[in-house]
Amino acid sequence: MLPSGHEFGYIDWLRRRLPADRRVPVGIGDDAALVQFTGGRCLVTTDMLMEGVDFTFDSATPQQIGYKSLAVNLSDLAAMAAIPVAAVVAVALPRQHGFELGQGIQDGLQALAAEFDLALAGGDTNTWDGPLVLSITAFGEPTGTGPVLRSGARPGDWVLATGTFGGSIAGRHLDFTPRVREALVLHARCSLHAMIDVSDGLSADLGHILEESNVGAILDEQAIPISDAAAGLSDNRTPLEHALTDGEDFELLLTVAPDEAATLLACPPFATRLTRIGEIVSGSGLKLRTAAGDLRDIPARGWVHRFGE
Ligand code: ADP
Ligand code: MG
Repeated sequence: MLPSGHEFGYIDWLRRRLPADRRVPVGIGDDAALVQFTGGRCLVTTDMLMEGVDFTFDSATPQQIGYKSLAVNLSDLAAMAAIPVAAVVAVALPRQHGFELGQGIQDGLQALAAEFDLALAGGDTNTWDGPLVLSITAFGEPTGTGPVLRSGARPGDWVLATGTFGGSIAGRHLDFTPRVREALVLHARCSLHAMIDVSDGLSADLGHILEESNVGAILDEQAIPISDAAAGLSDNRTPLEHALTDGEDFELLLTVAPDEAATLLACPPFATRLTRIGEIVSGSGLKLRTAAGDLRDIPARGWVHRFGE
């Protein structure tokens, strides 16, 4: 059970545990939080995680569930090249799990908030007889150069990707590092024309950039960075198919003018892998340049075709 058997015992526990933060002059304990932003604009994003859909108690600890629920929001802020500022956390706790579940969740998300200098400004705590549901709303600030949108890709741009793709279900969807730092370094180094984080899958999310920017793209089959997890899966889909279509990689896709992209790749600004995976072309749709040099259509949404055979 929750301490004192109700939400207020839990909120008292939270309040004692959360560090003070200069950006939140009024935090937990009033009807709304007061959050200080230095500029005039803020970026807002929200994501809800549901037991049975985004995680199960069999395969994830409460800490991992808390971590993931905040990490997916930080990944969205990263995709806009935003500086994290604050977040509010709404949670529906299954009554039978009680206080320990809430504590574990809070441990996971508080560790990540500290790592990315994000203030936990408030939230809402509920208990019920249903499954665990966690909804986080995060606020960020654009840098002086403004947010990076999906709509700015131009023909000729190189498509770059952080990290590796595919097979995140093997574990990485629970413990990935949101690419907040990488996004900010890239944004400071060069002109990012378009950016997105990969939650639905590489091809589907690149598809969102293509649609919003009214352009097409050609991906190089041999350049796609395939994760060890995808390479190690033994099912009826190839590692490349996993890399292109599995969701929840939470890496960044960005498009940059070729000269700037080449300079960037010649001297990578961070240890995280950064790869040129293709180029933006005029027109529409997504194509794959195979090792043999052929061009094949690949559906940007919902993978159906297989390569080979
Ligand atoms: P109200 O009923 O006025 O909405 P609550 O009793 O729900 O207020 O919340 C009391 C305080 O505790 C508020 O400041 C709220 O932001 C904070 N709070 C409640 N649940 C959480 C949580 N899970 N994480 C962080 N802050 C929380
Ligand atoms: Mg309430």
